[in-house]
Formats: sequence, structure tokens, C-alpha cells
Amino acid sequence: MTTPVNQAERAGENLSLWEATSDAGQLNPLRENTRADLCVVGAGIAGLSVAYTLVREGRSVVVIDDGLIGRGMTGRTTAHIVNALDDRYYELEKLHGEEGARRAAESHTAAINFVEKVVQEEKVDCQFERLDGYLFKPPNEPGENLRQEYEACLRAGLSVEWEERAPIEAFDTGPAIRFPNQAQFHPLHYLRGLARAIERGGGRIYTGTRVLEVEGGEDAHVTTQDGHTVHAGSLVVASNTPINDRFVMHTKQAPYTTYVIGVRVPKGMVTRALFWDTAEHAGQEDKAIGMVPYHYVRLANEGDEEILIVGGEDHKTGQAEDFEQRYQRLEDWTSLRWPSAIGVVFRWSGQVMEPVDGLGYIGRNPLDKENVYISTGDSGNGITHGTIAGILIPDLILG
Ligand SMILES: Cc1cc2nc3c(=O)[nH]c(=O)nc-3n(C[C@H](O)[C@H](O)[C@H](O)COP(=O)(O)OP(=O)(O)OC[C@H]3O[C@@H](n4cnc5c(N)ncnc54)[C@H](O)[C@@H]3O)c2cc1C
Repeated sequence: MTTPVNQAERAGENLSLWEATSDAGQLNPLRENTRADLCVVGAGIAGLSVAYTLVREGRSVVVIDDGLIGRGMTGRTTAHIVNALDDRYYELEKLHGEEGARRAAESHTAAINFVEKVVQEEKVDCQFERLDGYLFKPPNEPGENLRQEYEACLRAGLSVEWEERAPIEAFDTGPAIRFPNQAQFHPLHYLRGLARAIERGGGRIYTGTRVLEVEGGEDAHVTTQDGHTVHAGSLVVASNTPINDRFVMHTKQAPYTTYVIGVRVPKGMVTRALFWDTAEHAGQEDKAIGMVPYHYVRLANEGDEEILIVGGEDHKTGQAEDFEQRYQRLEDWTSLRWPSAIGVVFRWSGQVMEPVDGLGYIGRNPLDKENVYISTGDSGNGITHGTIAGILIPDLILG
């Protein structure tokens, strides 16, 4: 199944491949006041991962989302599940030291393993698959950054390999770093599996319910738009960018819009792997905005077909209007490397939160009561980052 491509896509108007190929489910609004050990705001990967772990620990959990499950950024991701980090290990070393970079690598590796374990234990049918990832430089850019990244990855404990080129037959990428044992899945099928496991464990998920206030402390509770309250011992705000913290966190991260196309490819023609380049410049922008990959690539199965999913062309949200050209540049970039990719069947966009120090924020909400937690600042690694929240926040809550 494919979705008609809206030529005038602005963030959110087109369905992503995942939204088009999964059952949206029904809204289940909260209609009364209630109580639980934990209340989570947000049913994306971060919120549901936290809820899942605490349900497994025997806690009573309520999750609230203002839309349907997974229809925030987790429904618009490309779902590379990786320890190859967008913000680069050599940059993380500068900001957090070698030990900090090593811990980041370990955390994201643990997240990949966590997802795999959930898939196996809960028997989640979500096309989870382990595969290699390749990072290479764009043409005409010097190779020092790639070499630096390779060496920093080794120092961070990753078993990366230096390869002559990435496995793209029609295009010589030049040297590439191979990251073994990365993964990918269908994000909404994974979330459906998490949601079912939460509900099997007695957790309650309310959708179509907007939270307006989050109040920590002894009488901790959230208040919804309809005036209902959920009282809980701990509150987790996993709304991607926190709705409760209007100042501190917003000075430490910025939203970037990123664009994705899905193009049909004949089955078996493209190596099953993840690909990223180290381009510093989005398309024709002349200002570098940091070391984020401007192209990220994977395959997805859709019935008997394969869809090549290519993303990139990021810009700071609100600072560009030329999304049509950005999609076109993604198409041009793709057809040069994979000439067998013909026929764009998906175009969508979304937003990632870029933290100023290259790492996300998971933990107690700054300047708030002890029992209010947040997860934000994912950069382009929110699938693993949200999963890390599902490991760390329960640890903080359970002590
Ligand atoms: C195009 C694109 C490609 C990406 N590719 C990758 C990738 O390959 N790998 C990777 O690791 N990451 C990737 N990311 C990043 C990653 O997808 C996100 O960081 C991650 O999905 C965010 O998850 P989340 O649970 O924090 O937020 P969300 O999935 O956005 O969930 C937050 C939820 O909170 C709800 N909410 C918000 N406000 C309220 C409120 N007031 N009351 C109730 N509910 C509320 C929303 O409805 C939403 O469902 C990509 C992102 C984009 C946009």
C-alpha cells in the first residue's frame, strides 16, 4: 500500500510509510480522575519504553497521549536503531571526554539489545532485523573527519571496521566506516507490541487526551484539557520536547526539520544495510550547522516490494521554505547512487531536537520536584535514546 504524495508537504501533512502501513487504532480518551504509581505523558518510543519497564516491575502505570499511539515523531522516523551516533564520537569526546563518549556508545548498544529482547520476549512482529551500517563522506570533501570518527569509535569501544567503500554498486563512496550489528524495524509495529505488553501487564493507555499541567511533589498529578486528573507517585513527560518545562530545556536544544522520500526498488537490488554520509551542508546551504548526517538511508519491506527510504536536507525549523527543492535534491542524490530506484511513493518530514552538547537529556526535570522526569534532546538517534529512557528512568524511580 502506498500513500498519494502531497506535492506541497509541510511537516505532518503526508503519511509516513509506517503510518500508511499500520492500523491507527481507536482513540480511548480518559473520562474520569484516576491514580497510578506512574503517569507517563506521551505514547511514543520514550513514553512506552518507560511504561513497559515499570509494568514489568509490577507498577501500576497510566500513559496519556493527545493523539493516537505512535503518531508523534516515532511515526515519522526512519527507525535506524544504532550506536553510530549523529553527533559523532570525536565531537562527544571534546564535550564529554573519552569516558563520556564510551558511555554513550555503551548506552546506545544496550538500547539496541533491549529492543531485540522485547521483540523476542513479547513476540513482536515488526520486521526487526540486524544489519551493518556504513558511514562515508560526500564527494569532494576531505576525509579527515571520517578518519577521526573511526579512531574515536574505536576508543569508545565499538568494533567498527575501515572499509574501502560502502556496498553501493553504482557509486564509489570512497572509504567507509562499517558499524556491525546495527538494526532497523517498523516503528509503529514495535510500538503496537509495546502497547499490548503494557496492557497485558495491567497498564492503561489513554489517547486523544491532552495534558495541560504537570505538577510534581507530594500531591503529584497531571491535569488534562477536559479537567481530569491522574495522581501518581512519579510523572514522566515523554512528549518529545517537554511540555512542562518552558525554559531550561528549551535553551539547550533546537528543533530541526528533516525530510524523507521512499522510492521503489526491485527486490534484492540494494544491499540490506544502513547508510549515512557526513555531509555538513544541506543541499545548497552555505552555512554548516554541525556534524549531522544529511543523508540517511535504509530499506523497508512493503509486501512483495522494497522501498528505499532516504532522508536528509535538514534545516533549523522555521528557517527554510524550499521544501519542494529539498525533496528534489533527495531524489537526485538517490538516483545517482541507486539508479534502480524509480518512482517516489512516499514523501514526509518531521522534526528532531538537537541538543547543544550532542547528548540527549534523560532524567529529573531541572528546577522541578524530584519525582518529575523528562526525556528529550534526541538528535537523530531518538529510537535508541527513547529506549535508553526506558532503562534509565525506571532505574531512577525504583532506586
Ligand atoms: C524524519 C525523521 C527521521 C528520524 N530517523 C531516526 C532514525 O533513523 N533513528 C533514530 O534513532 N531516530 C530517528 N529520528 C528521531 C526519532 O524518531 C525521535 O527522536 C523519536 O521517535 C522521538 O520519540 P519520543 O517518544 O520522544 O517522541 P514522540 O514519538 O513524538 O512521542 C511524543 C508523544 O507525546 C504526545 N504529546 C505531546 N504533547 C502532549 C500533551 N500535551 N498531552 C498528551 N500527549 C502529548 C504526542 O502526541 C506524541 O505521541 C528521526 C526523526 C525524524 C523526524
